Amino acid sequence: MTEILDRVIPGAQPYAYSNHELVEPDWRRFPGWVDVTDSDWRSAQWQRSHCVKNTAQLRGVLGDLVDDRFYADLEADIARAATMSMLVPPQMLNTMAWATAPAGAGSLTDAFYADPVRRYMLPVFSDRRTDWTSHPHSSRDSLHEHEMWAVEGLTHRYPTKVLAELLPTCPQYCGHCTRMDLVGNSTPSVEKLKFIGKPDTRLTDMLDYLRRTPGVRDVVVSGGDVANMPWPRLESFITELLTIDNIRDIRLASKAFMALPQHWLQDEVRAGMERVATTARNRGVGLAIHTHVNAAQSVTPLVAEATRAMLEVGVRDVRNQGVLMRGVNATVNDLLDLSFALLDGAGIMPYYFYMCDMIPSAEHWRVAVWEAQALQHGLMGYLPGFATPRIVCDVPYVGKRWVHQLHEYDRERGISYWTKNYRTGIETTDTDALSRSYEYYDPIHTLSPVGQQWWREHAHESIAGAEATHAQH
Ligand code: SF4
Repeated sequence: MTEILDRVIPGAQPYAYSNHELVEPDWRRFPGWVDVTDSDWRSAQWQRSHCVKNTAQLRGVLGDLVDDRFYADLEADIARAATMSMLVPPQMLNTMAWATAPAGAGSLTDAFYADPVRRYMLPVFSDRRTDWTSHPHSSRDSLHEHEMWAVEGLTHRYPTKVLAELLPTCPQYCGHCTRMDLVGNSTPSVEKLKFIGKPDTRLTDMLDYLRRTPGVRDVVVSGGDVANMPWPRLESFITELLTIDNIRDIRLASKAFMALPQHWLQDEVRAGMERVATTARNRGVGLAIHTHVNAAQSVTPLVAEATRAMLEVGVRDVRNQGVLMRGVNATVNDLLDLSFALLDGAGIMPYYFYMCDMIPSAEHWRVAVWEAQALQHGLMGYLPGFATPRIVCDVPYVGKRWVHQLHEYDRERGISYWTKNYRTGIETTDTDALSRSYEYYDPIHTLSPVGQQWWREHAHESIAGAEATHAQH
């Protein structure tokens, strides 16, 4: 509990608000970037071509500021556990180990180990748990999105909205990616799934499905990350979406909005966004950008500039969907600091924090539902109501639920039970879909010794039971 609820001074407010100025740390503090100019830094092309993709490239930037033990730890993780390959844009790397270890602080090894952005973008083997590395119920496609593909890459889970996975790549790869099954390059631990259809055919099939499915009004245009789609192709897809009468909301999902704001500041992208935003406004369609920021230090002046640019061209809103992770942001202070940086600093709406999904090798990041509930309680009352983020649990075969919405909770075994009020796209003939309860599992290391022993003895039966239930879907 101490990790979740920050220490409170008697008589003081549990959270002390102050309006922090955003900071773009000086990248020249890293030996590999001493000659990088301001104009290089602002160039999306420079950022993309200098992304860090392996340990040797990281060493080329950081040099001896980080010692060999860290690089070896990183290599061990790549070889033994990582579900995502390494891809870190300079913009993101530059925000690591900055506030705790400013320029001239000597070795940054400890600061890198402790850094929240490093913990999810450059996971090292010693971060992972060795007792329960993965939950027995973890799976590669933990949200069963592929099962709900109406056409390849188009997940129809909720009644009125769909998720369009346009492409399987991003300009950055997050260690905890929930779409680790599909997104990014294969790693020694995970051979990635490949789309079968040709990209153009898949997009056409998605548009055809939306034209013949008038009950869908809302499309999350995602991936991967839409920032990896050549702008003319993305604009063409959005423009086609805007010709479909039933589509009333379009949300473009881009973590690069934070990780590579230079992309969204390019002339071509700004001009193109102005065209689609104008069309959307004229048609009464809400066009928004959804980004993914997990730590306050990631909200830099360039991110704020990109937000202003998008709001100026007519985008309705920029919203944040962060992921709740132990060691990254799972304290009330961290979540409120991030929310205020987003809202006050950049004009980004703090919208959701998702509990980290039950993918393999994620147990060190995941928090229990009761911990998420305590965090939600701690967040209330500081931010305006409209900007108070909801912490949600994405329950397999259900979808997002507010963390207090569970139906039953077996705290000893860490199993929460959830219900739903709609059928997913694969349950149109399932008579029990609305009366069944659906399970979500807390990390086993958060359970009592009795609960942990239960899992040691019963994990196999538990998995068999869940598979039998899901076979009825
Ligand atoms: S940006 Fe999103 S889709 Fe891409 S790796 Fe990160 S979490 Fe996954």
